[in-house]
Amino acid sequence: MSMRLLRVLAAVLALAGPLACQEKAAPTPPPAGSLRMTVFELPLHGLAIALETPSGALYLVDTGKKEGDADAGKDVIAPFLKARGVKEIAGILVSHPHRDHFEGAAYLLKHFRVKSFIDGGIEGPLVDEDYAKLKTHAREKGAELRTVRAGDVLKWDDALEVTVLGPPKTGVAAPDKDFLNDNSVVLRIRHGANVLLLPGDIESEGRDSLLAHPPADGLKATVLVAPHHGFSSGKRFAEAVKAETVVVSCLADYPDKKPRSPGQAATEFFGAAGAKVYVTAWHGPVEITSDGKTCAVRTAREKK
Ligand SMILES: [Zn+2]
Repeated sequence: MSMRLLRVLAAVLALAGPLACQEKAAPTPPPAGSLRMTVFELPLHGLAIALETPSGALYLVDTGKKEGDADAGKDVIAPFLKARGVKEIAGILVSHPHRDHFEGAAYLLKHFRVKSFIDGGIEGPLVDEDYAKLKTHAREKGAELRTVRAGDVLKWDDALEVTVLGPPKTGVAAPDKDFLNDNSVVLRIRHGANVLLLPGDIESEGRDSLLAHPPADGLKATVLVAPHHGFSSGKRFAEAVKAETVVVSCLADYPDKKPRSPGQAATEFFGAAGAKVYVTAWHGPVEITSDGKTCAVRTAREKK
């Protein structure tokens, strides 16, 4: 190929890039009466999920992390809310008080009206003092604070059944290093025939607690957000949940961790259990839309 042709090709590719980005930046709202879950692609390790309910309310489950100039609340969630025309967040639920789940909330509390702030009520020396400050901030901004435990029901929408499956009232006994993860709020959202399971960062003790005290109708779910960014799996848990779709919120590579690529590990693990697996690091933000009968999945990119 001649140099001239190569230059023309390079110019065409340079043009195609920004156009593709523009398309991604303008997500369409869900059809009326449907439930939409968006698992965001984050620049830093973390988890942030938006739920748009059938009656049009918006809830967040976790809000990602803030570090240096990067802030999941400011850089990722707020632009999404603005694109949707959202002025009021009906609720922010923080699954557990780790920075990669709560730090994005500070910006959102500052710039949006937030009606409620919900968590599992974990206190003590393991909890970062910045988290206590965040809750005070939420209260001062007029959010109603609520603590939930297994068995509690959240009235988020008449068309949804939102149930808390964990942690139990007495908490999950776990070693210090896993305690906050294992005591994540586990949320189950039922919309007609579809069930979404959001287990935060539960590890083996949290999974065992769910398996030991499952809800009367079982743990089966249509869509599972992989526990602990794909670092946590477990055969019995996967078999009990039997998800058709699994979404993993993680970065592409963790040089110091095992496995280095939780996206790859979770794809192999849940794929072997029959699920279709989507990884935010590869697919970009993952949108699940439920009409109460089926779930449609849309991603910003094809894998890799
Ligand atoms: Zn996490």
